[in-house]
Amino acid sequence: MDQKCETANCNKEASLQCPTCIKLGIRGSFFCSQICFKGFWKVHKAIHVLAGVEPITSGNFDVYNPWPTFRFTGKLRPFPQTPKRVVPDLIRRPDYADHPEGRSLSEESLRGTSIKVLDDDEVEAMRVAGRLGRECLDEGAKAIDVGITTDELDRLVHEAAIERDCYPSPLNYYNFPKSCCTSVNEVICHGIPDKRPLEDGDICNIDVTVYHHGFHGDLNETFFVGNVSEKHKKLVRITYESLNKAIELVRPGVKYREIGNVIQKYVAPHGFSVVRSYCGHGIHRVFHTAPNVPHYAKNSAVGVMAAGHCFTIEPMISEGLQKAESWPDDWTAVTTDGRYSAQFEQTLLVTNNGCEILTKRQENNGQPWFMDNL
Ligand SMILES: [Zn+2]
Ligand SMILES: [Zn+2]
Repeated sequence: MDQKCETANCNKEASLQCPTCIKLGIRGSFFCSQICFKGFWKVHKAIHVLAGVEPITSGNFDVYNPWPTFRFTGKLRPFPQTPKRVVPDLIRRPDYADHPEGRSLSEESLRGTSIKVLDDDEVEAMRVAGRLGRECLDEGAKAIDVGITTDELDRLVHEAAIERDCYPSPLNYYNFPKSCCTSVNEVICHGIPDKRPLEDGDICNIDVTVYHHGFHGDLNETFFVGNVSEKHKKLVRITYESLNKAIELVRPGVKYREIGNVIQKYVAPHGFSVVRSYCGHGIHRVFHTAPNVPHYAKNSAVGVMAAGHCFTIEPMISEGLQKAESWPDDWTAVTTDGRYSAQFEQTLLVTNNGCEILTKRQENNGQPWFMDNL
């Protein structure tokens, strides 16, 4: 044991650790005895305040590191999270909202079943859910800027959902702690909104799903924060274009496994790779269901598109290696080489002669506003 007591001028061997520091994941902070711990408390507790309340720059990491032994793949670090947000009782909740482990029993009971064909009423409900999801994403997108925290984006999306009589689908889904996913730079997907302020040059994906009157609508976009480098702008643009290429393919009779061929063929000439661990998915009364929609080539996805199917396409495209690994929070998926990854997603309905983009932009041809400045 080579830790020394933190109390000024003590210097004794120390093995007791401050319990609050352990909880917050703060490194160091050993004491030789309860007496020293209590005696030094007034000075020591300032470190908790620093970690929990006001992280300002990435220098924050010296104070807040919840996983001292974890080897990060890139420069991004976790910041403290705010408490779980509340959804008013009047809003209809999915079954997992109140399950202790966030399990969706309705979703689990559909595992292994074939792709559902929605009837006219269900299709209409999906149109509404898709449009409301789009509006909530746009509310978050408007606020993207240097200095805003991803937690603030989460708050805006959460409030936008509630205003529209929607439950924010990610909240408590298998215990996910927030109302949307925010995936910055090397985060591939499922980033947890926290108190990290966005920095000039970041790319930030916001993934929004809302649950309205029993149906989910799901979409995401990657945004530029301040001045983004040309190579990262290109990554985002190619990712966006690859999704549109894939959507062009959607009509009855096409095999789901064809989608990945189109996406990989589009991005590979630029040297980009297609993430394999996360896929598009069927969506309607449950959040994730059949079909499974891989975005990489030569996949063995099951199923053929038919009118009335609803599913997402959401390619995650990486600058370098496609391989993903998770942070110890078991959600945040990052590239193993620390290079950036971008994503776009739409919820689609297969129609008799093509498809309808249920989460499309309302005002223009579907081009995200930031694409104008590329
Ligand atoms: Zn999705
Ligand atoms: Zn999504």
